[in-house]
Amino acid sequence: MTIDTTPAATIPILSHWIDGRPVEVAPEHTGPVYNPATGEVIARVPRGGAPEVDAAVAAAAAAFPAWRDTPLIARSQVFFAYRELVWRHREKMAALITRDHGKTFPDALGEVLRGLETIDFACGLPVHLAGLNTPNVATNVDVFTLRGPLGVAAGITPFNFPVMVPMWIYPIAIACGNTFIWKPSSHTPGASQLQAELWREAGLPDGVFNVVYGGREAVKAICEHPGIAAIQFVGSTPVGRYVWETGTHHHKRVGAYTAAKNAMIVLPDADMELTADAAVASGYGSAGERCMAQTLVIAVGDAGDRLRPLMLERITNLKVGPGMEPGMDMGPIYSAEHRESVISWIDKGEAEGAELVVDGRPFHHPENPDGFFLGVTLFDHVTPEMEIYKEEIFGPVLGMVRAKTFDEALGLINAHRYANGTAIFTTDGGAARRFKLEVDVPMIGVNIPIPVPAGYLSFGGAKDSSFGDLAMRGEDGIRFFTQQKMVTERWPEPGRRGALSLVFPGNA
Ligand code: NAD
Repeated sequence: MTIDTTPAATIPILSHWIDGRPVEVAPEHTGPVYNPATGEVIARVPRGGAPEVDAAVAAAAAAFPAWRDTPLIARSQVFFAYRELVWRHREKMAALITRDHGKTFPDALGEVLRGLETIDFACGLPVHLAGLNTPNVATNVDVFTLRGPLGVAAGITPFNFPVMVPMWIYPIAIACGNTFIWKPSSHTPGASQLQAELWREAGLPDGVFNVVYGGREAVKAICEHPGIAAIQFVGSTPVGRYVWETGTHHHKRVGAYTAAKNAMIVLPDADMELTADAAVASGYGSAGERCMAQTLVIAVGDAGDRLRPLMLERITNLKVGPGMEPGMDMGPIYSAEHRESVISWIDKGEAEGAELVVDGRPFHHPENPDGFFLGVTLFDHVTPEMEIYKEEIFGPVLGMVRAKTFDEALGLINAHRYANGTAIFTTDGGAARRFKLEVDVPMIGVNIPIPVPAGYLSFGGAKDSSFGDLAMRGEDGIRFFTQQKMVTERWPEPGRRGALSLVFPGNA
């Protein structure tokens, strides 16, 4: 465990961003931000609460009418400008991610580019906001739908994708004409202010995009604030359930996208070399801290016996080290506490009787003894009764499960409480087709281990991986951040009046 002993005055203090400018905070109202590769404190992040949320809501509410009324083409020009700026600053943004998250620089760059896809989508906002128009549904009566913004919207985001996940939320909210408050994770706030500054440079009016840092107090204030109309949350299941319950209780529209325990099925006919690459990349990339990682490999028949040595070959060659060092496959765990948590899960798996094939616990990085490093772990013969099968570990720990048949493997996935992503590895098109139709998980890969849909499609899970009715991004994102209005319209012909009738109007 690293103790924060750095004097607060000697390191940079991040600022909230409210009404188009930074809002400074005294050191005593801040907490430490670590570089997980070295264990050093590199910045301090404000601990905001109700007063900061109040100030951000006031700024966002004041900016709302003008932003709502900004013509769609002018709005989309701001998005084109922002898109260009993010593209130009992509490497700087990626380096900021690596600095406080720990993931490798190429992985962080990939994150920025997958976030950019949703900004690309939002550039086409005039098309996405189009309604339906049906002339002449009754005599001289036309109907049409409008998609209007909700008002002030908020996004609460996790540590693991400090750029991509917010970029899956705020471009859609703002494109729809809402103003926005973002509450980033306090563990990985390093790239937040750059995003705010780029919005300002792109020409977004002050108050449309605001950033408030903080933890439980700030989140509570957002969930209960009468001035906030909608919240999208991404993070763990207990906090997501709290945000959904509290936010909906306060009459907000809430979508909460939460924890995962994704499993990939491997059939005996799979291309085992490709499958071994996929399992190792998915399980250990970003130190297993991805909600779409496959953390269980359900091997059918003799697939496990053939796959395991191929995975071991690859695991032996993995390079673990600081994310900015070229050639690293995996960086450190994002925090010292989480490293301890992952270690205790490995202890538990051993105690539960899973076969510990590779043990990541003894790994220490020689040049960075205070970094939060952990090696990769592989368990085999994990069973559905074990806690390491049931719960999300969110670290570089893969569990192999043995199933006798495809039906047994499919049944295991469908019985799990989490349902975010899943995959099948096979060369049998018929089996893949059955899997797509029968698996009870919304995001599906066929010979693809991290099936994150492209940026113009929606993203979201089911069961305990999601709360609320709509996914984020894509068509669902537009529906989430707009209020549909249904207009029924008649223009009386001059000089002509119908007879008075109290009969319920039909469509004749
Ligand atoms: P987290 O739930 O700890 O934090 C998420 C957000 O909630 C952060 O902004 C945090 O500051 C805030 N928060 C934390 N504790 C809180 C509390 N007690 N009360 C109120 N607010 C609180 O999640 P995390 O550790 O940052 O992220 C990892 C989790 O996110 C994993 O469970 C992962 O599966 C999930 N995740 C899900 C998706 C998805 O799309 N389903 C995507 C990425 C991450």
